[in-house]
Amino acid sequence: MDDVSHLLDELNDAQREAVTMGSNHCLVLAGAGSGKTRVLVHRIAWAIQVQHASPLSILAVTFTNKAASEMRGRVESLLQIPTSGLWIGTFHGICNRMLRLHASEAGLNPTFQILDSDDQFRLIRRTIREMQLDEGEFPPRQVQGFINARKDDGVRPDHIEHHGNPLTEQMVEIYRRYQAACERSSLVDFAELLLRTLELLRDNPTRQAHYQQRFAHVMIDEFQDTNSLQYALVRLLCGSDSQLFVVGDDDQSIYGWRGAKVENVQHFVDDYKPQVVRLEQNYRSTATILEAANRVIDHNDDRMGKNLWTDGEQGDPVRVFSAYNEDEEAEFIIGRIQDWLDSGRNPSEVGVLYRSNAQSRLFEQALLRADIPYRVYGGLRFFERAEIKDALAYLRLVHNPLDDAAFERVVNVPARGIGERTVAHLREAARASNQSLWDCSRHQLASGSLPGRARNALGVFVDLVAGLKQQHDETDLGGIMHRIIEQTELIQHYRARETSDRAEARQENLDELIRATENYEQSIEDEQAGLSPMASFLTQAALEAGEHQGEKWQDCVQLMTLHSAKGLEFPLVFMAGMEEGLFPHQKSVEEPGRLSEERRLAYVGMTRAMELLFLSYAESRRLHGQTLFGRPSRFVSELPPALVEDIRPRLQVSTARAPRQTNDGLPNLGSRVRHAKFGDGTVLTVEGQGDNARIQINFDDAGSKWLVFGYAALDRIA
Ligand code: ATP
Ligand code: MG
Repeated sequence: MDDVSHLLDELNDAQREAVTMGSNHCLVLAGAGSGKTRVLVHRIAWAIQVQHASPLSILAVTFTNKAASEMRGRVESLLQIPTSGLWIGTFHGICNRMLRLHASEAGLNPTFQILDSDDQFRLIRRTIREMQLDEGEFPPRQVQGFINARKDDGVRPDHIEHHGNPLTEQMVEIYRRYQAACERSSLVDFAELLLRTLELLRDNPTRQAHYQQRFAHVMIDEFQDTNSLQYALVRLLCGSDSQLFVVGDDDQSIYGWRGAKVENVQHFVDDYKPQVVRLEQNYRSTATILEAANRVIDHNDDRMGKNLWTDGEQGDPVRVFSAYNEDEEAEFIIGRIQDWLDSGRNPSEVGVLYRSNAQSRLFEQALLRADIPYRVYGGLRFFERAEIKDALAYLRLVHNPLDDAAFERVVNVPARGIGERTVAHLREAARASNQSLWDCSRHQLASGSLPGRARNALGVFVDLVAGLKQQHDETDLGGIMHRIIEQTELIQHYRARETSDRAEARQENLDELIRATENYEQSIEDEQAGLSPMASFLTQAALEAGEHQGEKWQDCVQLMTLHSAKGLEFPLVFMAGMEEGLFPHQKSVEEPGRLSEERRLAYVGMTRAMELLFLSYAESRRLHGQTLFGRPSRFVSELPPALVEDIRPRLQVSTARAPRQTNDGLPNLGSRVRHAKFGDGTVLTVEGQGDNARIQINFDDAGSKWLVFGYAALDRIA
């Protein structure tokens, strides 16, 4: 037998049981940081090395592309062999792969493109306009939600009963027309990726049998956040001889608002009668952090219930900072990050987490000023930026001129005199003749039915794209991207319209895009599926745009929403904006059931922290152009006081902050100092300047004291 001891090293008994389990289905139900993901990775290695499973027989599903590539890397390092045959990916990634392989059976063009949610929104809005409906009555965002929710439930327009309700009837009609537009242009939105795959497997017994035989091992991480469609897919993929290995934590179910169903955990138990393994030891956090998180989640009453303990160190208290406003909050956090770096630690060990993307801007500015490298994970990712999407729309047209969404996006970008009226006319004509906008434009140009000015302008556009398409035969992906940016004059377009800073940034991004295409290496799977490098690049770009995923992770402070932090861990974690209305989010306070989901999100956030955890809130906050005066989040008051250290400056922040600017050696608020007699403590308040400043310090042992700086002889400590 191979030496497999290293596969079981550094696993506890319960983890080992899960990894080596024989023929049963398995559910690992366990709290945060208990090693679920680790067990899943070891289980893959175990199946291959000990059970001699073929890598081709393994399907592993994770929540993000980043998690998938990490998982692949970890399996490779455990096994010391390349694992290209393994199917590891997100549900979307895996469905994309199947649809490419069986495109015609799925009723798709094999070069179909993926529509990300921004493009989907535009296409839906366009459909609503075409139908001459009132956008007030049918807000595109809402219609988008309606369509996606129907798709997530596996429902096509024909299945929806409108019971004579004219509003529903119209919604269904928009759904129908939108779908027709997608089909015409070979576009597939995110929900469609899943639904198509489901239909493919469901309606095609040969395919179904093939995959059921192939995937002897189906493994799913973060199972608590699967939706109905995903669970239905899992059921279709598992044959009678397949083993399902599912890991999850009901306390971390945070995507209910997007259709995830934590009930799937119970359904799985009922449907598959798995052996249930519980992991109870947490390896991630200090005892204090773990206890605090456990106590917060205790306030939910809809839990499956579990114990989580650690034999790790007690660690520091959870620190809570009450800021005067959001600027001071950012300044406080940056100060603590600076302390962390000064003590020789790495910026990539720091996670700044918040409830809503809009909160990131302040931290970004403050980090920029402090010259600390950072990455925002979420928000507008590279592939979602307008200039990138414009350039990619041209690439999409070169790839497939029938792509109406791409056509609309750039037909008049840069402005070339094709007005909304011309476009509306084209849309109408295209719809009437059931043609793509591209084909319709060519017809209209040939037949001379457009007025002179519009004809010339449209002619320029069509010639430009046709010319690029021709040049594509002479050059590779990087070459054509370069020519697109050159010949479309996109950069000149931004320069003419925007401040030089912004245009500069856009140019840098476009340069980066050229580099990305030049260095693009197609995966073996895409190549095997017969995808051109261009098609696989476009697919990758769309999948990444949808996922809100960061780029590189080296040596940068990580900024992200609490939702995107799932599954990750950081030695130092900040949870910012802990205010009622912001977190828990206003909507959730009003909607029953949503509040416990917010609390689970708080639990997810807190359990990301390994060593130190800071929570902060602002007494007043400007957000979305409004000033809010929030009370501290209820989640803060749910923390056990014994585990918390309050760091509260007085309200006269401007005085308190002044010393920092004059740089006269006064410690910052919240920094740690040592006093010869009183020991170590945290600075709560600084009033005045220089040696006469009065400083309030909360000493760990001696309690709170006021001292005069000039006489106190304080040493700063890390
Ligand atoms: P989450 O619920 O947040 O996804 P998880 O249950 O998936 O967490 P992991 O990320 O797998 O937990 O593990 C948490 C941390 O504990 C990781 O750093 C992991 O390497 C470590 N760990 C897990 N099990 C052990 C073990 N038996 N010995 C030492 N370290 C471990
Ligand atoms: Mg995990």
